[in-house]
Amino acid sequence: MTKIIGLTGGIGSGKSTIATYFKEAGVPIYLADDAGKKVMQNPDIIAAVADVFGSGVVENGIINRQKLASIVFNESQQLQKLNRIVHPAVKKHFDNWLLEQKHFPYVLYEAAILFESGKYKECDCVITVIASTEARIARVMQRDQTSRELVLQRMNSQWTDGQRIPLSDFVIENDDLELAKAQVTKILKILEIKQKQP
Ligand code: ATP
Repeated sequence: MTKIIGLTGGIGSGKSTIATYFKEAGVPIYLADDAGKKVMQNPDIIAAVADVFGSGVVENGIINRQKLASIVFNESQQLQKLNRIVHPAVKKHFDNWLLEQKHFPYVLYEAAILFESGKYKECDCVITVIASTEARIARVMQRDQTSRELVLQRMNSQWTDGQRIPLSDFVIENDDLELAKAQVTKILKILEIKQKQP
């Protein structure tokens, strides 16, 4: 059976960057955050969201993600209601995708909230990517052209590395990209994943 490697880390730690190294090594990767955005376009999900949060969050048949985010941000009960709609849809999407990967020994499941959602319990091993807080803030400010305050807000709504690390099988320090890549190579070796020849 295909094994699932969970990959997580705080905002700006470099999860997506690290995921591409696994992809280059031939490991199929599933981006849960992208899948979450995609399922929000599903008419059944749009209807369920309108039902719970009011039709004001739907504009021209599309969910206004900013409006929805402002309702659920730091409101754990509202967030739970949203998760109860979105998480099962992502799970179904992932399960179908996983079936298509049955010839691969491993897949990688990348999610910012792997621990918060409980999904880590379904993974055969979990990798957490870490980097210094200042580096993460600078990276996200540059990538998203956003403010320090907004990055800190998002950071503070997530688990801390202190919470993630004890539940992880591997920790990748991503301050220097070359060193991070070497850590990926080491993990591939430990998991006995044969890298595709370039
Ligand atoms: P998010 O949780 O916001 O999706 P992430 O953890 O997936 O973020 P990435 O998108 O991989 O993080 O990285 C954030 C930004 O930092 C990107 O622009 C990426 O190119 C850059 N970056 C990643 N790792 C490094 C590094 N070691 N040195 C410099 N820049 C980096």
